[in-house]
Amino acid sequence: MIHLYKKEIYAVFGNPIHHSKSPKIHNFFFKLYNFKKKYIKICASKNFFLDEITLFFKKGGKGANITLPFKEKIFSLCNNITKRATIAGSINTLKKCNDGKIIGDNTDGIGFLSDLLFHNIIKKNFNLLIIGAGGASRGIIYPLLKFGCNIFITNRTFKKAQILSKEFSKFGNIESVFYKNLRGINFDLIINSTSASISNELPLISYNIIKKKTICYDMFYMNKKTSFMSFCEFYGSKNVYNGIGMLIHQAAHSFFLWNKIFPDIKKTIKYLFK
Ligand code: NDP
Repeated sequence: MIHLYKKEIYAVFGNPIHHSKSPKIHNFFFKLYNFKKKYIKICASKNFFLDEITLFFKKGGKGANITLPFKEKIFSLCNNITKRATIAGSINTLKKCNDGKIIGDNTDGIGFLSDLLFHNIIKKNFNLLIIGAGGASRGIIYPLLKFGCNIFITNRTFKKAQILSKEFSKFGNIESVFYKNLRGINFDLIINSTSASISNELPLISYNIIKKKTICYDMFYMNKKTSFMSFCEFYGSKNVYNGIGMLIHQAAHSFFLWNKIFPDIKKTIKYLFK
C-alpha cells in the first residue's frame, strides 16, 4: 500500500464543494484534542468519484465525508455498512479500519435530531413536513420516526416522495402529500431538505401552511439568511433555523466514529461564530 500523506488525512468529497464548512469544523475538532491530523475538501468528478475516493484511501486517507451528489452512490466501495446507513440508503461518512476495510455510515439523521434537541424544537408526536426527497431526506426520516414524530413528505418530483413514504412506513407514521394538498394540515415543524436554497430558489409550497408558531428549518446553510428562511419569516414564523447546527452535529458524530471521542459542541459553535 502507498502512503503518501505525511499527516493523518480526512476529507469531504462533493461537487460542488467550495461552500463546505466541514474542513473548518473538523480541523477545529483536531485542534481541541491536539491531534496532528488534517481535514481537506476535494471536488470529486461526477463520473470518476469512486476511483478518486479509492485513490484517497490508497494514499493513506483515514476517513471521509461524502456529500451531494454522491451519498447514494458510494455503497459499492464499503465492506461494512452500519444499520442507520443501510436504512437511510445513503452514506455520508467513510472510515478506513486498520485491516483496510471500509465502513460506510450515515450521521446526517442523528446529527439533525441532535440539533433539534439542542435547540429544544422537537417533541414526540410533532407533525413534521419534510420538503424534498433526496439523500438528506433519506438520512433524517428514520431517526425522526423512531423519536415518535408524524411525518408528511412532499417533493417537486412527487414519485420520489411516494417511494420514501412507502419505504419508511414500517418504522412509523409517514405519508406523502402533493404540494397543493398541504393546506389544511397543521405542521409544528417544516423542514426544507431540498437543495433549492443553494441557487436562491424556493420549493413552491403555499405560504398558508406557515404560522407564527411554526418552526421552520432549512437544512442548507450560508452566512446570511437562506431564501427559505426569509420566506418563512416573511409569512410569520418566529422560529427559523438554518442547517449549520446539523452540520456541526453530524460532523461530531463522524468524528466520534473516527476517533472515539465526542467533540465539544458549544466550543465549536463559539469558534465558528466568533
Ligand atoms: P439531493 O440532490 O439528493 O436532493 C435534492 C432535493 O431537492 C430533491 O428532492 C429535489 O427535488 C429538490 N430540489 C432541488 N431544487 C429544487 C427546487 N428549485 N425546487 C424544489 N425542489 C428542489 O440533495 P441532498 O438531499 O443531499 O441535499 C439537500 C439539501 O440539504 C442541500 O441544500 C444540502 O446542502 C443540505 N444538507 C445539509 C446538511 C447539513 O449538515 N446541514 C447535510 C446534508 C444535506 P427533485 O427530486 O424534484 O429533483
